Amino acid sequence: KERIVSMNILSTNSLTKYYGSGPSLVKALDGVTLEIEQGSFTAIVGTSGSGKSTLLHMLGGLDTPTSGSVCVDGQELSSMEPNELAIFRRRKIGFIFQNYNLIPSLSVYDNIVLPVELDGRTVDQLYLNEITDTLGLSDKLNRKPNKLSGGQQQRVAIARALAAKPAIILADEPTGNLDSHTSQEVVGLLKATGRQFHQTIVMITHNDEIAQTADRAIRIEDGRIAESRW
Ligand code: ADP
Ligand code: MG
Repeated sequence: KERIVSMNILSTNSLTKYYGSGPSLVKALDGVTLEIEQGSFTAIVGTSGSGKSTLLHMLGGLDTPTSGSVCVDGQELSSMEPNELAIFRRRKIGFIFQNYNLIPSLSVYDNIVLPVELDGRTVDQLYLNEITDTLGLSDKLNRKPNKLSGGQQQRVAIARALAAKPAIILADEPTGNLDSHTSQEVVGLLKATGRQFHQTIVMITHNDEIAQTADRAIRIEDGRIAESRW
């Protein structure tokens, strides 16, 4: 089968991830082959324990597969050295986790700009203002994350992911702790910046309304793709 490789910024081939062994073997991913087009917004849905987070971690090179492969922007992740992979990930991918993963000792501002600074790049201040305005964080930049509510901390994590203008944003239930109005707003922002910077967004969500607004929804069941809808 012929295809234009560059159109698919993310792809997996027969990806598996097993945990445990013998009778306690868990096939968290059980042969996932998928392709995600550059600039698209993909929702990943499925019941708890179906393998969504495991898939997202593999796509971002945060974990290694049991077998199969992951290709990001033409690069086979398993072919990279750990250090090389860390740099590649920082430049290409913005992660948004359910539990925020903020650094408590740093201010909100320093948390947001950290990935950009680690990469030795200059912060785009105008863009940063736009992001923090939209996310309602402008007056909280000097605070420590633990002074903020869960929803506010998630906005900081989203701002951090956006600030580096990554080609790919991988989000694991980013609106899980936000009310429905804020969820819509946050997803709206992600989509708008996604379009503006031609970013590829892959978002795990339990929210059907959000999944329905995606370009594509992939349903995972028992570590396999059960349904892929455009
Ligand atoms: P989801 O995000 O869809 O809720 P996960 O990808 O987190 O699902 O988990 C898929 C399956 O793999 C579950 O059965 C889970 O218990 C198992 N699993 C995930 N991570 C681990 C781990 N580190 N060790 C053992 N089992 C795991
Ligand atoms: Mg999960």
